[in-house]
Amino acid sequence: MHTLNFDNRFLRELPGETPEHSHPRTVNGVLYSRVDPTPVAAPKLLSHSPEMAEELGLSAEDIKDPAFVEAMAGNRLLPGMEAYASCYGGHQFGHWAGQLGDGRAIGLGEAVNQASQRWELQLKGAGPTPYSRMADGRAVLRSSLREYVCSEAMHHLGIPTTRALTLCLTGESVVRDMFYDGHLEDEPGAVVCRVAPTFTRFGHFEMLYARGEIDLLKRLTDFTIQRDFPELDPEAEDRYIQLFHTVCERTAELIAHWMRVGFVHGVMNSDNMSITGLTIDYGPYGWLEDFDPAWTPNTTDAQGRRYCYGRQPDIGRWNLQCLARALSPLINDQDAIQAGLDLYESHYARRFREMSAQKLGLAQLDEDSDIPLLQDLFTLLEKMELDMTLFFRKLAELDSQSPTNDVVAEAAYRQDLWEAHQGELTAWLDRYAERIRSQEEPSEKRIQRMNTVNPCYVFRNYLAQQAIDAAEDGDSGPLEELMQVLRRPYEAQPGMEAYAQRRPEWARHKAGCSMLSCSS
Ligand code: AMP
Ligand code: MG
Ligand code: MG
Repeated sequence: MHTLNFDNRFLRELPGETPEHSHPRTVNGVLYSRVDPTPVAAPKLLSHSPEMAEELGLSAEDIKDPAFVEAMAGNRLLPGMEAYASCYGGHQFGHWAGQLGDGRAIGLGEAVNQASQRWELQLKGAGPTPYSRMADGRAVLRSSLREYVCSEAMHHLGIPTTRALTLCLTGESVVRDMFYDGHLEDEPGAVVCRVAPTFTRFGHFEMLYARGEIDLLKRLTDFTIQRDFPELDPEAEDRYIQLFHTVCERTAELIAHWMRVGFVHGVMNSDNMSITGLTIDYGPYGWLEDFDPAWTPNTTDAQGRRYCYGRQPDIGRWNLQCLARALSPLINDQDAIQAGLDLYESHYARRFREMSAQKLGLAQLDEDSDIPLLQDLFTLLEKMELDMTLFFRKLAELDSQSPTNDVVAEAAYRQDLWEAHQGELTAWLDRYAERIRSQEEPSEKRIQRMNTVNPCYVFRNYLAQQAIDAAEDGDSGPLEELMQVLRRPYEAQPGMEAYAQRRPEWARHKAGCSMLSCSS
């Protein structure tokens, strides 16, 4: 069996503790507590990502080795692995929440691959940690499968994200209040092994700032620059400013991508913001189907809609302000902080425009005429309740010499709205077709431009639900087929048309199918 080579710098270079008991705790001066996963009754590998395995230098046989499966379910540590939970704080729904921490995530260390790339391995759902507070540290198959599939799907969409290596069943059941209404369900438990160059969050810095542990804040920030930002000079006097500016730019890049594909994270609390600009913490996320900027998949946020699709760019900035406050003792320069936030704005605006131009198949975006064209489209998509993914994908097929509404008809959820606004759609498509004709290029070029940014397949909630239902019945076939399709999201795959359709009517209102809560 091929083995992983561990070099656990986070544990070696930063302070932690070895608690006598695992209980809710607040300890100054540490960034983690050593804690082992709690073994489960019957570990079983349900699925693994061959792409992630390959990154780590592991074959399918290595992954399926019984000892490896046991490690992936939390029943043993492999040589070099060291288990721990890290602590961080965070702003949740706009308010400082104090110390949080890995409540159901247990780090296993940093695997260094043949190419000297560092990958942190982390089990999610492997049992309680000193930061679990009142919760059980477990995860149900439903939410683990959603995290596992989406991590890899986002990667294949070209969006920065934490990854997933394995999905294991525990052979134990977990009780959850499924719809937060007192209705308890016994569900199969599962553990995901997620993987990322780092799992450090904004909240790690915020916690140290809130506690006034400025020396440790400096240590963590220097560590982060050295380990996770090789492009920065660790000796430079302005390295903290450089770091902040880089994080601002990466966060802008990330959110522009989310907006491009209609991804709604759902819980953009600052403890769920990665310092390296990865999508992290797949909980109640979702994809826009009928285009609605006010939509959020998170039931806990249904009232305020703080984390709805349309607010994500603003919330990104809000979270960066939290990070700026945390780093302020090191930066001590308001102008430099403001410059970072401005960089966020300008980078986001530029990337959103570039991506939007590509989505429309435009070689270049003309500020004066194309921005109104785009805005009018968004208004129309919302008014007509058109499916965002299908609309853009189908738009590529428009004949610019004789545009007709029917190319995008598949995107319509409501016949009445379609009929009511058909005229406006025709008028918009005419404008669009004229704009396309003005580019004077073969239509294949435009189609190709569009099809590299407008996915054919996204991980729609109802697709997740179908894979979950089958997996709960012991059939992982649909899960594997889904992974297969999402591996090449921009390529129409023959025979897989069922994965590129409107959400069926049954899924619209089915509880658990379009709305989700945080901590299952
Ligand atoms: P989230 O909303 O998923 O970001 O979770 C917020 C906090 O609650 C994090 O610190 C989690 O570790 C913790 N948490 C969520 N679910 C559980 C669970 N089942 N057991 C222990 N801690 C949890
Ligand atoms: Mg979280
Ligand atoms: Mg979560």
